[in-house]
Amino acid sequence: MDKFKKNFLDFKTFTTKRNVFFIAYTFIALVVPFLNVDGRRVFMMSFLHKRLEFMGTVFDASQLYVLPLFIFMFAAWVLMWTALGGRVWCGWGCPQTILRVVFRDLLQGAILKLRVRKDKNRPLKLNTISKYLRYYLSLLIWSGLALVVSANLSWYFIDPPEWFSIIASGDFAQYPFVFSLWLGLSGFLILDIAFVGENFCKYICPYARIQAVFFDEETALVVYDEKRGNNTDGSQGIKNFARFIDKSGDCTDCLACVKVCPTGIDIRNGLQLGCIECLECVDACEPVMARKGVPNLIAWTTYRAMDGEKSRFVRPRTVSYAAIALICFVLVFVVKELKKDISLNLNHGAGTYQVDDGLVENSYFLLITNRTTKEKTFRVALKSPYELDIIRPKRDITLPADSVLKKALILQIPASKLVETDGKLFKFTVEIYDLDDPITPIDEIGGKFFTPSQE
Ligand code: SF4
Ligand code: SF4
Repeated sequence: MDKFKKNFLDFKTFTTKRNVFFIAYTFIALVVPFLNVDGRRVFMMSFLHKRLEFMGTVFDASQLYVLPLFIFMFAAWVLMWTALGGRVWCGWGCPQTILRVVFRDLLQGAILKLRVRKDKNRPLKLNTISKYLRYYLSLLIWSGLALVVSANLSWYFIDPPEWFSIIASGDFAQYPFVFSLWLGLSGFLILDIAFVGENFCKYICPYARIQAVFFDEETALVVYDEKRGNNTDGSQGIKNFARFIDKSGDCTDCLACVKVCPTGIDIRNGLQLGCIECLECVDACEPVMARKGVPNLIAWTTYRAMDGEKSRFVRPRTVSYAAIALICFVLVFVVKELKKDISLNLNHGAGTYQVDDGLVENSYFLLITNRTTKEKTFRVALKSPYELDIIRPKRDITLPADSVLKKALILQIPASKLVETDGKLFKFTVEIYDLDDPITPIDEIGGKFFTPSQE
């Protein structure tokens, strides 16, 4: 129990803070796909229905101009944290890191006792039947968890009740996309988390390569105190451990910081591309230095602070990223408020006009979209300077929730009245009224009526 408390419940350590953060993060990721506002998902990018749902509003395929705002907002938000805290995304926010902690430290380590969290780089030795069985058990359990994780991810793209009913139907032929996304992602997670591991962070992830561009001397990074520690020549000796020039500093060369590192680097050689800023080396060195009665040799701090100067949170680059994220956030809400849930479109039908029995007719197609969660009944009306009449549709139009209807619109005017139009085409406006509130039109659109004199 004491060991458990020390490893998992010591809130002074970054490891415990990170574990608490991971639990909250996982809970939020699991719950968000089920949360609704006004009968819509809080956030869902529906692939099957080609629309984005955000805070009670639906953006359909024709309104996906809002998507770049979400992408810019997320990117600016991550960049702001990168400029402030270095690779915090990698160590604290990236699903790859969280799932590696679950698989390696929790499943293979704390539960199946195949690994020691403080010595992550020691290769697994499957030299007994028990270890062999526990290793394959870890892969089996992880495969089950990978199915759950990829299902959770799928729910951001396919509404959960719909996803469950499709999976329960087992109809791969009708829904190849849904099954492929789920199973393909699961396969990737099994391979990546169980076998590729932190090599993904070191060699594959593009963000790892570009993050250093956003650092400056006021960015909090994992820093080894070279003034107090033993000096290294910057190169790596046997098993990648630092090669010391002298041993007069505080570092005891206990290697606790190296053994605990998930990416297998020696932070005493300075900040390296492989560092994902998990801060486990900071926790590892703390008790060693505490026993010596001196401050930690490794800290999450800025180079400026190491030189005894003050670091600023508020500086041009952090303010710029925050401003971009904020502007995108505000714009998303502005677009959301201005967007119409019910809309009308008008297309002229084939041919321009028809003359029959002293009557001139033009035909069109009306496209009515109901993006609300309720069935709606609409009345079509006309605003025209002349005696233009609606021949079709004569009746009110009922549209189910979330639907689009294409309806023929036929307008007619007696040929004798065309004298008033001065022989020219004239403009009119089609309006639709929601019968729940028939006082003001819910949308309107202009059109042109063609007359014989336009030939
Ligand atoms: S050097 Fe430290 S912070 Fe960086 S990955 Fe290794 S243990 Fe984590
Ligand atoms: S944990 Fe601290 S004392 Fe031990 S090797 Fe690392 S820096 Fe040196």
